[in-house]
Amino acid sequence: MNKCPYCDTSYNEILQTGFVGCQRCYSEIDSLKEAIKQMYGDKKHKGKKIKGESGII
Ligand SMILES: [Zn+2]
Repeated sequence: MNKCPYCDTSYNEILQTGFVGCQRCYSEIDSLKEAIKQMYGDKKHKGKKIKGESGII
């Protein structure tokens, strides 16, 4: 798919505006999926770990 069936946004439109139409765009538009993969790699997001100044509270 080169166009999101949910919001009718095409890959070219996303490239031009820099915005996706909806969350589904990521999974519906193959080229976008590939582009995202290249940008972020295959790393999975993990929750941020916040290190406190001291480990003892
Ligand atoms: Zn969409």
